[in-house]
Amino acid sequence: MKEILLIKLGEIVLKGLNRKAFEDKLIKNIRRRLAKIGKFTVRCSQSTITVTPVTDDEDIDEAAECVSKIFGIAAFSRACTVEKDMDKIKQAAAEYLKDIFDTASTFKVEAKRSDKKFPYKSPEICNELGGWLLEKFPEMTVDVHNPDVTVTVEIRDFAAYIRAGAIRGAGGIPVGTGGKACVLISGGIDSPVASYMMAKRGLELTAVHFASPPYTSERAEEKVKELLEKVSDYSGRIKMITVPFTEIQESIRDNCREEYFTIIMRRFMMQIAERLALMNDCQALITGESLGQVASQTVGAMVCTDSVCNIPVFRPLIGMDKEEIIEISRKIGTFEISVQPYEDCCTVFTPKHPRTRPVLEKVIAEQNKTDCGSLIERAINNVRVTVI
Ligand code: ATP
Ligand code: MG
Repeated sequence: MKEILLIKLGEIVLKGLNRKAFEDKLIKNIRRRLAKIGKFTVRCSQSTITVTPVTDDEDIDEAAECVSKIFGIAAFSRACTVEKDMDKIKQAAAEYLKDIFDTASTFKVEAKRSDKKFPYKSPEICNELGGWLLEKFPEMTVDVHNPDVTVTVEIRDFAAYIRAGAIRGAGGIPVGTGGKACVLISGGIDSPVASYMMAKRGLELTAVHFASPPYTSERAEEKVKELLEKVSDYSGRIKMITVPFTEIQESIRDNCREEYFTIIMRRFMMQIAERLALMNDCQALITGESLGQVASQTVGAMVCTDSVCNIPVFRPLIGMDKEEIIEISRKIGTFEISVQPYEDCCTVFTPKHPRTRPVLEKVIAEQNKTDCGSLIERAINNVRVTVI
């Protein structure tokens, strides 16, 4: 029996004139993601996208798992396809629903007939199929108000589809329809979640990671790659840029007052990230900061870091509690990786008493004790790029 996926569009349906562009982008994203799994045809008609395996060898379970992580999809269902013939529909339904009916006791049948040439009208399809299923599964009863299983039969252009229940999609809007942004990614819990959240709103991601060998290890960088791989299940391809940060951190340590170490380091990060963002057609930065979480995430500290940036800085976690962030990180599969104990450059040379209310002028004066311009230039000239 041939199984396909029927995909219902998410928020895209609210788009007016842009709708076609959003739909096209979504279809492109689905095609690209499924290409890694096998051969599928992806077509859109009457607001529904169908994913059809080209051969019997394609893995529809894997395709369903993949589709569940593509943004722009509100819901999808697995369906069996059958010729538009009432007897064949009945036979196929009985076979296809066997397993699902095993764990249920009530059902109802709904019919959608977009092919008006089909000889049965929708209520007649419901009656015919409902009666037949009751005969085949005598332990089942019909409940039209609150059924365990809703069986839907759709009579469309090329075939009839039988499905039972829908699976919730990833929501959001298709990646790429909102432009590009550059996320500052560490090995922690927060920044992968921030990446996921902004990709969900349609942004294509470039990731910037600061590494300070030998204070941070190669394994720490591998961890970041693993995190981005998880994020890319949702966001699609991510370009990762690794910036050498040792020289800058040592220069801060040697030249600046200790209580300003972190804030100055963060200003360097933002300055470099902004430059790299612009070089990569990104229009905004993303960080995993949450207000008050640590000394460098107070309003005052953010005033000092934002003042080096001319492009918007998105902080999707700003009003979230750690517990709420962890819940998402578990859902997207990054939590287990994030909690592995590898050092981040943020934990190198941390001051004992960081300033929580830094004064911008003083911070600037301290930072200027380093050779900012050429340090930044050298860091940017020595980045490494990996595609995830
Ligand atoms: P996370 O869990 O994302 O590491 P955090 O709570 O540990 O966040 P900080 O270490 O203060 O917070 O970092 C705040 C934000 O700064 C991170 O969410 C991330 O966006 C960015 N950041 C921190 N370290 C790095 C790094 N090594 N490379 C790139 N960005 C970083
Ligand atoms: Mg961190």
